[in-house]
Amino acid sequence: MSRFDVVRERNVAFAEAGGHEGATIMPRLSLVVVTCLDPRVDPAAIFALGLGDAAVLRNAGGRITDEVVEDLAFIGQMAETAVPEGPLFEIAIVHHTQCGTALLADEGVRTRYAKRIGAEPGALGARAVLDPDGTVRADVARLRASTAIPDRVTISAHVYDVTTGRVRTIIEAGEARLAA
Ligand SMILES: [Zn+2]
Repeated sequence: MSRFDVVRERNVAFAEAGGHEGATIMPRLSLVVVTCLDPRVDPAAIFALGLGDAAVLRNAGGRITDEVVEDLAFIGQMAETAVPEGPLFEIAIVHHTQCGTALLADEGVRTRYAKRIGAEPGALGARAVLDPDGTVRADVARLRASTAIPDRVTISAHVYDVTTGRVRTIIEAGEARLAA
């Protein structure tokens, strides 16, 4: 008995119903969502995304890390090839309330985690999402400062409330090179 059995059965039903058909490599809604890996914040569910609607990058907190910038640059480079001119896609950064990364604000937790992954404890403190309105703004600024992101990309910022199920927009979509 594997924990995977339940989803394997769902996959059989998905494939038999043709759920995979028609999906394309470039997201249908020209949308890339960056959000937390918390299962309460699954974009497919909270934004009713269908297969192929959006590309989704998830990590602890939905933070703009070096790795996320590299992935966004990769998607950007692919999109530039597919779309010679005009807007490419929107990057929507979504942080949320009650984020587990808030634990990283605790020195003991941070120190143990830093040791576990071989990182500097100081840098990990900045990963904590205690104030999602503030961190999502900081991450937009970080992304706008990156020259790896194509100018034809737009960036927006949002906060999802796990207690109401609603998302609030903190920064409307703006061009990547605008000042944050
Ligand atoms: Zn979270």
